[in-house]
Amino acid sequence: MMDQYTEYKENTSFQIKLKEEMKHIDIILSDAQLRQFDQFYQMMIEKNKVMNLTAITQEEEVIRKHFVDSLSCVKVCRVDKVKSIIDIGTGAGFPGIPLKIVYPEINFLLVDSLKKRISFLEDVIHALNLNKIKAVHGRAEDLARQKNYRSHFDLCVSRAVANLSTLTEYCIPFVKVGGYFISYKSQKGKEELEMAENCFRILGCSIEEACEFQLEGEDAERLLLKIRKDRATNKAYPRKSGVPSKDPL
Ligand code: SAM
Repeated sequence: MMDQYTEYKENTSFQIKLKEEMKHIDIILSDAQLRQFDQFYQMMIEKNKVMNLTAITQEEEVIRKHFVDSLSCVKVCRVDKVKSIIDIGTGAGFPGIPLKIVYPEINFLLVDSLKKRISFLEDVIHALNLNKIKAVHGRAEDLARQKNYRSHFDLCVSRAVANLSTLTEYCIPFVKVGGYFISYKSQKGKEELEMAENCFRILGCSIEEACEFQLEGEDAERLLLKIRKDRATNKAYPRKSGVPSKDPL
């Protein structure tokens, strides 16, 4: 029997709009990828009726503020050269799921501290037939201490999770030396960057690029911070669960 997501249409208005918007960041989607995005959108809207996944539900807005924004890291990184990505505080799957659809060969780990969101993402992974991707329930501070995750990833991405100093303490321990953490920020990220000097020194990382841009058709300024991990993270970090947010470095 077909489930509600098995049968989908091609060239829906959603797919046509998405295809056009992606061209602004030089991403050309195949028909199969367009269908995967469409299906993900439908699943998110459906689930959003019974749990809090996103405040953004209107087609154009989801395309720009969730899908194109998630992929905007291509402005500062050759994502196609990366082998493993971890997304910290992925929520409804941003930026992780859009990146996975566009780069199916990369190994992905999606992390969130809310179990219900991870269950939703497991349904998405199954329905979209995504491979080499896992969604894990847990706090970054705890998972970063696990041998199989620590210093394991080429790239860490994170959007709308915490202040930059707190977030860097969550994210940098997962990254290999020489790898990168890309933080998706709004304009406020500039102040956060100024405040993060001490934190970067303690954690052994440095800012390589700060890229300001506007999403096509949107006024709000976006800021991508590309942070390089220069040396191994001291074992003391991240500190105990809850401490990085209460007492940022
Ligand atoms: N990244 C998504 C986005 O841009 O739409 C979700 C952003 S949402 C505002 C923040 C998410 O981070 C929530 O789903 C929350 O459960 C998760 N989160 C917050 N602190 C966390 C932590 N210490 N470890 C793992 N997940 C965390």
